[in-house]
Order: sequence, then C-alpha cells, then structure tokens
Amino acid sequence: MKQTQPGASTQTPAPARSSFFSTQPSRADHFTESVIREMTRLAIAHNAINLAQGFPDFPCPGELKTAACTALHADLNQYAITWGATDLREAIAARVAHYNGMHFSPETEITVTCGSTEAMMASMLAIIHPGDEVIVPEPFYENYGPDAQISGAVPRYVPIRDDLAIDEEAWKAAITKKSRAIILNSPNNPTGKVFSKAELAFIADLCIDHDVVAITDEIYEHILYDGRQHISIGSFDGMDDRTITIGSFSKTYSVTGWRVGYALADEQLTARIRKIHDFLTVGAPAPLQRACVAALALPETYYRDLAADYDRKRKILFNGLRRAGFACQLPEGAYYLFTDIANFGMSDTAFARFLVEKIGVAAVPGSSFYHDGGETRLRFTFSKKDETLLDACNRLAKLNEMGSAS
Ligand code: GLN
Repeated sequence: MKQTQPGASTQTPAPARSSFFSTQPSRADHFTESVIREMTRLAIAHNAINLAQGFPDFPCPGELKTAACTALHADLNQYAITWGATDLREAIAARVAHYNGMHFSPETEITVTCGSTEAMMASMLAIIHPGDEVIVPEPFYENYGPDAQISGAVPRYVPIRDDLAIDEEAWKAAITKKSRAIILNSPNNPTGKVFSKAELAFIADLCIDHDVVAITDEIYEHILYDGRQHISIGSFDGMDDRTITIGSFSKTYSVTGWRVGYALADEQLTARIRKIHDFLTVGAPAPLQRACVAALALPETYYRDLAADYDRKRKILFNGLRRAGFACQLPEGAYYLFTDIANFGMSDTAFARFLVEKIGVAAVPGSSFYHDGGETRLRFTFSKKDETLLDACNRLAKLNEMGSAS
C-alpha cells in the first residue's frame, strides 16, 4: 500500500512501487478467473447448496477408494512415467477399444494428464501456432475461452441453437485458411446436447476438407439419456490422424478432485502433446493412477447404473426448476440444466447472486458460457445426492411464494 505520511520526513521514504503491473501486459489480462469456481466459493461463504460447479457430493465407488489406499500403503509415492503408468495406459486402451471403437497404442498414442483440463490445454498448446483460429461451438464450457487465449488461438464461435441444432452454413463460414482446430464437447456442457452421427459426420468432413484437427472433450461420454449412444468423432473414417480425444475419470467415477484424465491421438500428435504435458505437470498423481486401473475393471452394470442414477436426478431437478418458474428442457446427456430466466426479469449475474444469498442455491450465470450474451441463462448441475437436489428444489420453490406475494 502506498505510504503517505505527511510530516514524517525523518522516515526513510518507501521504495517506489514497481510500474511492472501497469505497464507490462500479460496473457492473463485477457480473461477472468473462472466464474464456476467463484460460484463455489460464494456458495461456501453463504452456506448455499452448490448446484454451480459440476462435481458429485456423493461417494465414489468403493473399489477406487480401496485401490487408492492400497497404492498409498504400498508406498507408490513417486512419479509415474510422465505420460502415464503403463498399466493405466493399457487399461485405457482396452476400455476405449471396447466403448469408443477406437484403437490406440498405449506406448505411443495415450497420454495420462491432470484431468481433462490439462489434456485440453496441452492439446491446444501442442497444435496451435499463435494467430491460428479455432472453431468453438457456443455456448461452451468456460475453460475453452482462456485455453484459446493462453495458447494464442483466435476463437471463432459457431452457435448451438436454442433447439440444439447446429447451423451448418455458419460452421462452413467460420472456416478460413487459418483454421487449425475445432473444439467439440459431446455430451455438451452446458446445453446437454449430444451431437448426432450425422452432425459428427458433417464436422468430420469439414476437418478433412480443410485440414483441421478435432479436439473432442468426451468427459460425459457415459452420462447419456433416453437410450442415446456415445459416438466418438475420432472413430470416423479419415479422422484417426486428425483427432485428439479427451477423456477423464472425474465424472464417470465421481472423482473430480483426483485430477486424472487423458488425451488419445495418433503418434505424431501424441509426441507433441507429451512434450507439452511433461513440462506443464510432469504427470498425474501416481497412486491415483493405480486406483484408476481399478475403475476401468468395474463391470458394465456400473455404467448402466450411473446413467440411470443421473436420469433420476435430472428429472428431480427438472421438475423442481419448472415448478419454481424456470424454463428448461431435459438434457440429452451430461449433468446440467441450462435454464432460461428471462421471465424473472434479472440479469444472469444479479439473479445468480440473489439465489445464492437469499434462496441458498448456487448456479452459474449463463454469460460464463458465451463470448457475448447468455444473460438470460443460468446453469444448474444435478450431480448431487437426491436429497441435496430435493432440498435445493424446496428452497427454489420460495421464488414462487415471492412472486405470488408481490
Ligand atoms: N466441468 C465442471 C463444471 O462445468 C467443473 C469445472 C471445474 O471447475 N473444473 O462445472
């Protein structure tokens, strides 16, 4: 703090403040802190139910905990191989062959990362030359904006429409000679859209025709509703050497704090990703990598139960939100409800603040998912215990009483 002490001339003057921060621009100047994470801090401060940040408040499968404890007791405390423990890469290769229909060499085509967050950042740093353009469907998971800024990419946004359709002409128009990558996220956060086979085929053709890489974040691949199937764009003909598929243990096994994810790509892409990953983080936590091998040994019924549990949760929150006056649709996948709040007559940020302070429920302002717009939206997650969701619905019902009292 600046020292101003009139009359204190006998004191040594305070050293001049460095002008560094006012004169030196930084890439960190171009984006704000995560609003999703900020809402979690606000939820804690106001003792509100956190339906903002997408993490479960229920336990992970016991098999994972047992395996993590065993790994720690076995003193698996030192670095794993930089690009992932061998047994984990082998288990990922087997699982992806079975579920996604894609074949990756554990030796040369799989990189275990600190969550999908690092996988996305490392992928962009690996392929973006500053000034390159990336196509980003909007609304988008908020990390992709800063990811683009940090890597020097120029984002070009293409809309996911309110009816969840994509506008093919807008996608074609967004491609230029500078286009380097398309960022995909299916099932999608925040809209819940699951890209159809025809839409993915269209995007794959765009990538092939214009020599563009698809970076596809498939973290919600097991959270699908109403019989939908997951399709990886990397499994399309001609996409194997131009797709980076990102996955994670966070959502599928309810361990978001473990920070274990992965990037799958052909050998040449992987060689670049691994170099970036190595110098960013060295590696993901070794004992938890061992526990993730146990996760991949869970039976198929685990995945069916996970989807069925989330189906029940989405209906609980959907009904509660509708009763409280929110306009929303049931999502096709992932674990968010992206609501329309236009009839409440408040901006997204003002309404989010009101909800956390006065109603006791935290949500994410819609504008966090747009480069421009989203002020009539709020995102709620239903990755919570049924009782947590029911409690939140009861609190939200107060909105009706307030409305009818006025
Ligand atoms: N993906 C989750 C969300 O959108 C969590 C984000 C995070 O904070 N890492 O809420």
